[in-house]
Amino acid sequence: RIAVIGSNNMDLVTYVTRVPEAGETIEAPSFEIGFGGKGANQAVAAGRLGASVLMITKVGDDSFGAEQIRNFEANGIDTRHVGRVANMSSGVAPIMVEPNGENRIIIVKGANAELSPADVDAAEAELATCRLILLQLETSLDVVYHAIEFGHRHGIEVLLNPAPAAADLDPARIRDATFLVPNETELALLTGMAVTDEASCEAAARKLIAAGTRCVIVTMGAKGALLVEGEKAVPIRAFPVEPVDTTGAGDAFIGSFAHFYVSTGNVEASLKLAARYAAQSTLKRGTQKSYPTAEEFAAF
Ligand code: ADP
Repeated sequence: RIAVIGSNNMDLVTYVTRVPEAGETIEAPSFEIGFGGKGANQAVAAGRLGASVLMITKVGDDSFGAEQIRNFEANGIDTRHVGRVANMSSGVAPIMVEPNGENRIIIVKGANAELSPADVDAAEAELATCRLILLQLETSLDVVYHAIEFGHRHGIEVLLNPAPAAADLDPARIRDATFLVPNETELALLTGMAVTDEASCEAAARKLIAAGTRCVIVTMGAKGALLVEGEKAVPIRAFPVEPVDTTGAGDAFIGSFAHFYVSTGNVEASLKLAARYAAQSTLKRGTQKSYPTAEEFAAF
């Protein structure tokens, strides 16, 4: 069983021919709604693969909140600890996409900002049955630190994906996470070191290992990933594809890794499968819409 303690967002994507000026009203050719938020994305990737997933998050008392809960349930995710906050909007991300693919994104945290350490404690009985807790940085840092301490105290492994990059993350309070999974930008910010190639990636990851983290996995987009654990550094090759849309590939990688890892206990083998799953997710447009089911993955 996997627990995800994190965010959910409704992506409101408007495809514009150009961006409106201040005070101007324009028409846009199309609009799409998509389920998003790093926490929800990772939970859905694991859920589609058949994992048993407990989701700890908060939604507002609007129609988006109800849809988020329906979406979790449709993906087999346990929603007993999805809270509904009165007089509050759900997390939303209004996004404008120009014809050249350029994005303008606004994130309104809404109910996500209300998730608190007390919500983690309230799920103690269910959390105690989990093998792995997944965390990201779209909830308050208090929740992240508390969940790491909670996992440490209960002997539950914790994976922290320090995304989006946050300059105020306290390195001393995340070293008890079992797995740290940053991308190159996040790794550079976390360590204050320049990350430009595999050698500098490994050097920066070693700094986190020296500080007490057991295992660092750096994702590097089309270049794959690098696993650094103890003395060893293992490059994980990207699965070669011609991507259509890489949005959400990082979350597909982490959610699927969590599923394969709790099923097998083998980090390296699970990372290879996660690279294949994330690559497959780049072949379709959208975020959660592009995440394969177990059957689709087996056929890939
Ligand atoms: P993020 O979006 O969080 O920065 P990355 O871009 O590093 O994450 O992608 C996460 C993982 O997804 C990579 O480690 C890789 O395995 C896979 N991936 C991403 N982009 C591609 C791509 N163009 N081709 C193949 N695999 C990819």
